Amino acid sequence: MSSLPANLLPDNATIAPDGRLKIAGVDAIELADRFGTPLFVYDEDHVRARCREAREAFPDGVAYASKAFLCKSMARLAHEEGMLLDVASGGEMYVARQAGVPADRLVLHGNNKSLVELRYAMREGIHRVVVDSFDELDRIAGLARDEGLPAPKILLRITPGVEAHTHEFVQTGQDDSKFGFGVRVGHAKAAIERARALEAEGALRLVGLHAHVGSQVFEVGSFEKVIEVLTPIFAPLGLEELCIGGGLGVAYVEGETSGSIREWGAAIRRACEAQGLRARITAEPGRSIVAAAALTLYRIGTIKEIPGVRTYVSVNGGMSDNPRPVLYGSGYETFLARSADAERTRTIRLVGKHCESGDLLVREGKVPADIAVGDVISTPVTGAYGYSLGSNYNKVPRPAVVFVRDGQVREVVRRETWDDLLRLDL
Ligand SMILES: *Cc1c(COP(=O)(O)O)cnc(C)c1O
Repeated sequence: MSSLPANLLPDNATIAPDGRLKIAGVDAIELADRFGTPLFVYDEDHVRARCREAREAFPDGVAYASKAFLCKSMARLAHEEGMLLDVASGGEMYVARQAGVPADRLVLHGNNKSLVELRYAMREGIHRVVVDSFDELDRIAGLARDEGLPAPKILLRITPGVEAHTHEFVQTGQDDSKFGFGVRVGHAKAAIERARALEAEGALRLVGLHAHVGSQVFEVGSFEKVIEVLTPIFAPLGLEELCIGGGLGVAYVEGETSGSIREWGAAIRRACEAQGLRARITAEPGRSIVAAAALTLYRIGTIKEIPGVRTYVSVNGGMSDNPRPVLYGSGYETFLARSADAERTRTIRLVGKHCESGDLLVREGKVPADIAVGDVISTPVTGAYGYSLGSNYNKVPRPAVVFVRDGQVREVVRRETWDDLLRLDL
């Protein structure tokens, strides 16, 4: 029985006296009419503000985790705002390079980087390679030795093995993980020794350690534990950089609140001081930079009321533009672009157009009572891991993406066409 919580809308969203949603001064329904739906709408100044906040919170260097949302305009924006870019594949690196981001502003991640990807990174002179395995150390050494490629600066990805109560953050920090070098099993120590030996041969330069403990972590205090666990490993090594990864959570639904990037940075700094840790502390936020900056606009195609059961509202997208509800059971809010502050008295299930019963966007969505076919309905906080996790399932073309700023709109990714769907067919 409540209207949409305003904290879930982008910074520069406003609601006109007639109830219509505007983003950075641009009417949402006009955007839907002009660019079609589904449509991802990013509040560009919101993204820029988060980038600046991240730079201030981590003055020693901070990378935007591009897997959250990447296109050329996004890569350029993060670069313009002084962020490094974390790329987790050759493809992400290629997009960033094509956007004009210099290789020495990129950090390469991945638990199974291929020779091709490592060669690309080393040849171009990447800022950092975050090394994830012994095999990767061998591959880098081989490329340096056999192909004479310049020695890359590396961080070793450490799996701290913390069992911090029941916290979500354990999820990628545990011993049982495909990522990184585990502390408890002795891999971290062995990797440091191996990296030092390769450094002596001139194959690489070990500049620091890295740990990424999970995603959608709400308690900024949880990151303090990482510093506590890593300090005794890091301190004796005399290395310059410790990267604490990304993972700061964001609010998706009513009642959720999250710490800010500023608070996250402050908590990390406090933890370092408490541990007497002296190093360049770097980070790699993705979700907290872009998630709340965008919302998705859909057009309602059908409304089916099953008496005594529920009401299904079908839109012209679904799991192909936002698979998070299907993958993780994630929740979202819903509201109508024509009456964004209306009381939402009706409960519906928002579903997509794909041939799966599981194709749902919002399990229990609230909408105004007068919802109708043809309405533009929106899910906020879809700026991270929506477009980037999307697919062409059912040959549904991928949506367009627009950036709005100061009353101006620019299309940064065009809508896929049916012809695009045939691009790869031979
Ligand atoms: C995904 C990822 C990030 C970003 O995580 P967010 O939750 O989006 O902040 C940072 N570093 C690494 C290594 C990652 O895998």
